[in-house]
Amino acid sequence: MFDNALIWILILPGMILGGLAQSWVKSNVKKFSRVPLRQGLTGAEVARHILDARGLQTVGIEPSKGILSDHYDPRGKVLRLSEAVYGVRSVAAAGIAAHEAGHAIQDAEDYLPLEARSAIVPVVKAGSTVAPLVFFGGLMIGSQPIMWAGAILFGMSSLFALITLPVEFDASRRALKHLEGMGILSDQGEMDGARQVLRAAAWTYVAAAVAAVGSWAMYLVLSRRR
Ligand SMILES: [Zn+2]
Repeated sequence: MFDNALIWILILPGMILGGLAQSWVKSNVKKFSRVPLRQGLTGAEVARHILDARGLQTVGIEPSKGILSDHYDPRGKVLRLSEAVYGVRSVAAAGIAAHEAGHAIQDAEDYLPLEARSAIVPVVKAGSTVAPLVFFGGLMIGSQPIMWAGAILFGMSSLFALITLPVEFDASRRALKHLEGMGILSDQGEMDGARQVLRAAAWTYVAAAVAAVGSWAMYLVLSRRR
């Protein structure tokens, strides 16, 4: 009974925080997508300006499908910006585009947390697929060592979610620095808008980390219980 309550205590905060953060991001993006940029640049143009200023003319910028699908691809050295960002002239689009440009700059500077995150991606991908199978396989045949192996494998994805935090916070910090320093955002109102969008986005990564650590702890509790 106590253990069941404990499991909910471990997984509920991540779920609740995740839901809140998602709706916060959506409402902030919606709000600041309606605020035009006085400089009149599209998201793609904002990213291009920042990348060029950092000597990253070879990094490409492409449109991508899907809501909030914006990302930097370190292998292809290309920024992919969603439809709500790529050709849109708004404070939200500028903030998101500058954030993704921040990842490209991290990559160019060999920023350690980004390198570490990229390095563990293959292990995490394999681990997150195999871990539940190993864990529940161990549970079914009643083997605690196999359950432990599954739980430890699962821990890799928690590690990934934790390393993501400094990477994302740093990209947003760089974004705001460039948006202000290069005069892309022209007043305090625009700066506040971009900051709010990026802060809400940061919460989704915090929620993901809380959820990952919580479910890892749940695996560990279940392993110990057997
Ligand atoms: Zn990011």
